[in-house]
Amino acid sequence: MAYVIVAQTKGGPEVLQRVELDLPEMSNLGADEVLVRHTAVGVNFIDCYFRSGLYPWDKEKDLVLGSEAAGEIIAVGPSSDGQGSGFAVGDRVAYTIPNGAYASHRVMTTKHLVKLPDGIADEVAAASMLKGLTAHYLLHKSFEVKPGQTVLFHAAAGGVGLIAGQWLKHKGVIAIGTAGGAEKCALAAKNGYDHVIDYTSEDFVARVKEITGGAGVDVVYDSVGKDTYPGSLQCLKTFGTLVSFGQSSGPALDFKLSDIAAGSYSVTRPVLFHFTNSEGYLEAAAAELFAMLESGKIKVVINQSFQLDQVADAHRALEGRKTTGSTVLTLAM
Ligand code: NDP
Repeated sequence: MAYVIVAQTKGGPEVLQRVELDLPEMSNLGADEVLVRHTAVGVNFIDCYFRSGLYPWDKEKDLVLGSEAAGEIIAVGPSSDGQGSGFAVGDRVAYTIPNGAYASHRVMTTKHLVKLPDGIADEVAAASMLKGLTAHYLLHKSFEVKPGQTVLFHAAAGGVGLIAGQWLKHKGVIAIGTAGGAEKCALAAKNGYDHVIDYTSEDFVARVKEITGGAGVDVVYDSVGKDTYPGSLQCLKTFGTLVSFGQSSGPALDFKLSDIAAGSYSVTRPVLFHFTNSEGYLEAAAAELFAMLESGKIKVVINQSFQLDQVADAHRALEGRKTTGSTVLTLAM
């Protein structure tokens, strides 16, 4: 037997319900498809955006959320070119694509899969495929950080935030992180951030000006959105860049193009899946991420673990700002 966690309507965490299914037949696997038995599934804020309806979904269809997972291949379909797909039963694999991962088993097209090196545990992969590759493109593609530059990263104690802090440290960048509360600030400081600001009790714009001697930062990575983006722009140097990559506090609806005239700023609003869908990026970026993890330069901090069945509780914790680092769903054998 197999099962999925389905949202039958948009709404709060209570819309997430378990539905039992038959395991897909091996004879039904299409060209370059494999059947993966999930061992661990990541929880991400994007899951909440889809569940609540902030991100659009087909109203006619139930939605299986979840955009990153790891597992083992238990059946392999035919390859389209007759040469074999390079994947075999028993391979440990991971992936990040939008939705469909809150499931015990899943039919996957091999182009989305990466094989896991021995040194990367399934839970670590499920906690870092989406978040780690996001940190990768943010620091290498959206704005390529250079040693000596100064960066402001909001929600620094979160899943993406803790990975990014360690990566920034490794790159010799001066990283300023914001987080809600003293405990989260302390955790961010342990994970690469040179300066931390509790933006729930301090004016982060004034503190950034103080830390940078009035100069401002080269780039702000802002995933909080509504509550932070006006201040984020004020933290930039002239010609600085705002990378707006999320909206955990709500979308920045009143942003105007003229806002960036104050300092000839650049603004970008990137999405991970545009990068992972571009030729060669997934393999190259995953290899870099795994190398950073295997060398111990980046450690994935998994501070919350739930059974897949309990994913509604994971959503409540994430939306309630009760989590730090990554959240992973485990599956009973
Ligand atoms: P996090 O673990 O960072 O959780 C989100 C954090 O946002 C919270 O812990 C909280 O930290 C902060 N926050 C600030 N205001 C609010 C609010 N009103 N409600 C809830 N949380 C708030 O999540 P993820 O690591 O999964 O994702 C981080 C962000 O990156 C999300 O916005 C996500 O959508 C975005 N993202 C974007 C991608 C892209 O390609 N564009 C890909 C991956 C993630 P604190 O209490 O410290 O303020």
